[in-house]
Amino acid sequence: MSRIQAFVLQARPFGESHRLAVLFAREEGVRRVIAHGAAKPQHPLFAATQVMTEGSFLFRRSGQGLGSVEQGETVRAFAALHENPDLLGYGLAAAELLIRVVGDDEQMALRIRMLYQPFALFLQRLSEGSAPGIAVAALILKVAPYSGIALPLICARCHEALQESRDVSILSGGLLCAKCALLPDEQHAWHLSEGASRVLCALIATPFEQIGRVSVRPDTEREVVDVLHALMAEQSGISLRALAVAIATDPRFMRP
Ligand SMILES: [Zn+2]
Repeated sequence: MSRIQAFVLQARPFGESHRLAVLFAREEGVRRVIAHGAAKPQHPLFAATQVMTEGSFLFRRSGQGLGSVEQGETVRAFAALHENPDLLGYGLAAAELLIRVVGDDEQMALRIRMLYQPFALFLQRLSEGSAPGIAVAALILKVAPYSGIALPLICARCHEALQESRDVSILSGGLLCAKCALLPDEQHAWHLSEGASRVLCALIATPFEQIGRVSVRPDTEREVVDVLHALMAEQSGISLRALAVAIATDPRFMRP
């Protein structure tokens, strides 16, 4: 048995009184566990195993397969996310991102614990009202070295260094310079608005930890998160169902 600190990425009922949960632990990375008794409202694990909650758990590892937790308490509840289903949707999208990047790879499940602090920072930004799509976009870029995508400020065709770029080639897997954007086989590249291009290039150039509170127009936010999502889907095969749902149901993106 060991004491771990972890975020609850996913949780669902298991039998009458338990929950199956995916934890993201500072010490252990991503782990699938049975939380014993957690489905009973009077049980201390009931609150501690709500999604997006950070808890402190008594964790029992198993050789293969599921670990288990029998005791735990809430460290941080991120109440703002539970009061706003739209925000919670973006949190679930980020959780799906981590789970998909890990897949069945035991090495990756452990390696990804390096993202514990960034994920905590992401949830804090969501709770504090930073544009949620931009917060997810920044996290996608932070996770990029683990998910196999790369998005440097370099033209994906001619490798020229870029200050800015308004064209993203999903097929070539990156930004394009103005010249390469005119190539006939790049005619399907995404041509970003000036605002979205500025935000995307700033996100790439700024270390994740130094990104401040971002407020942008909703259509700009949507362009940035959509283009990164499409790029990740093409390059690493990771397309996030929860992100598609969060965007489709976000009232800010609905046309009157
Ligand atoms: Zn070029």
